[in-house]
Amino acid sequence: MEYSLKQFQFIVPFILLLCIKCSDPQPSSTKENVADKKVIKVKNEIIPPTFQTDSAYNHLQWMENNGPRVPGSKPHERFVNWAEQKLKNYGGQVIVQMGNTQTYDGKNFSIKNIIASFFPERNDRILLCSHYDSRPFCEKETDPKLKSKPCPGINDGGSGVAILLELARIFKEKDPGIGIDVIFFDMEDYGNNNGNPETWCLGSQYWAKNLHKPNYSARFGILLDMVGHQNATFPKEGYSMYYAPDITDKIWHIAQSKGFGKYFIQDEGPELTDDHYFINTIAKIPCVDIIDYKVYKHSFFEHHHTTQDILKKIDKNTLFAVGTTLLYVIYNHEQI
Ligand SMILES: [Zn+2]
Repeated sequence: MEYSLKQFQFIVPFILLLCIKCSDPQPSSTKENVADKKVIKVKNEIIPPTFQTDSAYNHLQWMENNGPRVPGSKPHERFVNWAEQKLKNYGGQVIVQMGNTQTYDGKNFSIKNIIASFFPERNDRILLCSHYDSRPFCEKETDPKLKSKPCPGINDGGSGVAILLELARIFKEKDPGIGIDVIFFDMEDYGNNNGNPETWCLGSQYWAKNLHKPNYSARFGILLDMVGHQNATFPKEGYSMYYAPDITDKIWHIAQSKGFGKYFIQDEGPELTDDHYFINTIAKIPCVDIIDYKVYKHSFFEHHHTTQDILKKIDKNTLFAVGTTLLYVIYNHEQI
């Protein structure tokens, strides 16, 4: 995942440049504080099962013990087997989509996208996704010795996977009343900071060009990226607001109504090159990115692409806020 302002000149039509919102550097709005204090009961709202934060946290513990999920490594291979089995245990119809790709530095890899379909017979569907690979190097470390180390990827990649696995368990417990596809994308994080944005998100690009089912579509998609850090803030990301503004607004409204306004803030963020960009532009499915971004610092969470993206920095409250919001969105999809 990369902050993409530098990249716009290469891929984004000029008109999109005009859409970037600039904000004055000032504290977050008071709206979120108000929303924080009251939990609003919505009429005819379906109350979903409780998001078990410890279950998501335990998945992250497994990922930390397993090691960085760098493409081509043993931990990457072990992760694929583990996630596939978990999703099958939760009742998903699982396939591992494989395809060849080449990274910006000329290395060849076999992509492995893990795809689990729940209630596959239903035509009306929601797509939930996250990347699972770990970046092979920590370019944001200041110590040159650490720059070549792989990123643990506990928040970056891992947190989205952990939340979606817990959701998958819940789908088995209570029927969400709609078809759901959970996709763990491979090779999101092998990109070049100075180059073409298409060097990022190789797994989702492959999937968007080679859908796992002919004519596959979904009502909407939600991408999770970096959703477990302490003090996370999720502004309304730029491409989400461009391609899926109504869905984005509804998700944020639900989050705020449940008291999670300090995470789901009202600010709009910049466009970010992430898996949802290719889901929107190639697969043509409106897809929203829930991603931790510090609008006034113009940066991701402080341990992004460092060796400190570890379990100790994960906050269970953040996992709970995101997981619970998604559950309310999914079980109340008729109102989305
Ligand atoms: Zn990353």
